[in-house]
Amino acid sequence: ADPRKVRNFSIIAHIDHGKSTIADRLLEATGTIAKRNMKEQILDNMAIERERGITIKSVPVRMDYHAADGQTYVLNLIDTPGHVDFGYEVSRSLAACEGALLVVDSTQGVQAQTLANAYKAVDHDLTVLPVLNKIDLPSARPEEVRREIEDVIGIDASEAVCCSAKEGIGIHEILEQVVARVPAPRGSEDAPLQALIFDAVYDNYRGIVCYVRIVNGAMQRGDAIKMMATGASYAVEEVGVFSPGWTPVEALGVGEVGYFTASIKTLDEARVGDTVTNVARPAEKALPGYQAVKSVVYCGFYPVERDDFPQLRDALEKLKLNDASLTYDPETSTALGFGFRCGFLGLLHMDISRERLEREFDVHLVATAPNVVYRVVKKDGEVVEAHRPGDFPPEGEIREVQEPMIRLTVYTPKDYVGKVMQLCQDKRGVYLNLDYITPERARLVYDLPLAEFIVEFYDKLQSLTRGYASLDYEHIGFRASNLVKVDMLINQEPIDAFSFICHVDDAYHRGHASAMKLKTLIPNQLFEVPIQASIGKKVIVRTNVRALRKDVLAKCYGGDISRKNKLLEKQKKGKERLKQIGKVSIPPEAFLSFLDVN
Ligand code: GDP
Ligand code: MG
Repeated sequence: ADPRKVRNFSIIAHIDHGKSTIADRLLEATGTIAKRNMKEQILDNMAIERERGITIKSVPVRMDYHAADGQTYVLNLIDTPGHVDFGYEVSRSLAACEGALLVVDSTQGVQAQTLANAYKAVDHDLTVLPVLNKIDLPSARPEEVRREIEDVIGIDASEAVCCSAKEGIGIHEILEQVVARVPAPRGSEDAPLQALIFDAVYDNYRGIVCYVRIVNGAMQRGDAIKMMATGASYAVEEVGVFSPGWTPVEALGVGEVGYFTASIKTLDEARVGDTVTNVARPAEKALPGYQAVKSVVYCGFYPVERDDFPQLRDALEKLKLNDASLTYDPETSTALGFGFRCGFLGLLHMDISRERLEREFDVHLVATAPNVVYRVVKKDGEVVEAHRPGDFPPEGEIREVQEPMIRLTVYTPKDYVGKVMQLCQDKRGVYLNLDYITPERARLVYDLPLAEFIVEFYDKLQSLTRGYASLDYEHIGFRASNLVKVDMLINQEPIDAFSFICHVDDAYHRGHASAMKLKTLIPNQLFEVPIQASIGKKVIVRTNVRALRKDVLAKCYGGDISRKNKLLEKQKKGKERLKQIGKVSIPPEAFLSFLDVN
């Protein structure tokens, strides 16, 4: 296509403000998808997205639009997720675009991810076109929200289209604005090929499919190409566009968005953020690429059946291809065997990743409780990064424990300010600021331990404010805190898989809850079994599993020794399945139900 007739843009917004529904209407209005084939939020094609009603993956789609000026334009649209955990997904998409539609629900106004995503777009030098959605609702107040966009975000909203994605109002105005105001791609047709890989996916038939934005030059079938990060070269087998399914084309020209396949075998060869160039005429420099992501939350994933470890590894590799923000490293646990320590951008991301592994790759897994990474300063000055409780040095060697902190911004209607402040305080938050972005809406800023944030903070905030609050956060480094490692002991033996890190004030409460849970999971033994929670050598909680004499010989009168031996033999066999911890047998199910978070 003639690059002057190409427009690449993303749709960005806070969650639920109507991005995916606007995308539906644009697809319809351009005839990309016939009305009879239309279903709601058609680009949310993953089963999890449809069930949860949220966008998880950015989805590119190409539309042909016959504009009012009589010309036909190629519009590449990328719908993006709105939840804070998927911000990385948004950034990657923005790097493939020149413009962004900033959708704002005209009944809700500017929310946390409206701001966060608008700033991302501005950082990428994109032209931002604000759109006021849901004007069909009686509570819509588009003029007020228009001012909010100008005051709070600081961008011009005088030309913002008032639209209703539901009723199909304002859709043509949006398309006309995209054509008129989003700049055409600036690359050079004659320069050597530079294509940015902005996403990738594993397909059973085609192998690895790379999603690219051609920045300079062109790419066609049969071209010898080279990945600039690895230097590996390939022959292009197929190039195509998203219409919305993978549709092969002859070539991708400068400024275009599409995909290619080239018998790329492993994840490491197709790095998201890498630049593809031509072997015969290579570009001198790679494109800027993406910042490395920093995992926020970690947990262990273990196969339920130990033999399934290779399947889990394979599934993680394929998922990582499609989700560059996922990290994983092998680890072993005495209780659960071989598995992986995985890093995520938040709890929703963790939850979704687990579900995708189970559904898309058919592996059954156990997920251990999520935790953050702590920094332990030892008395000898050494600093240890503790990814799991087992990494903590012995109590006596610790000088200081530091935990990761976030600076949290909450936007809330003014009536809920008191409740939100209480919640932040309960979560060990440190108050920084309160101001009003409009007479009705307050903005609260707290420094909060990340570990407290990941445990139900978002859900609690939503229920306290009936869903009217929104939040955003940034990482601000580590801070010393009074944290302890609590060990759970069964029959005096500490069980590594059951220990946890918490604030000293919560140690008793959480130790007690764990002891009670273990008590119900551990079958009665032939002797009394103490269950304890301890900090170092100090026991803080103690309970007992009562003794139960299960005398298999009780019904054996008389002296038939061979029959007695048979019964004892049988009892022994039954016990082999059980895990021996000291003298106590713990069924594997107990580990699973204690450790698995769902
Ligand atoms: P996204 O999270 O930004 O992709 O939002 P969705 O497109 O999934 O929309 C969120 C909800 O708002 C859905 O229930 C939509 O049906 C609804 N919605 C979207 N646009 C409109 C609109 O213009 N008017 C009304 N009344 N509802 C809308
Ligand atoms: Mg959506």
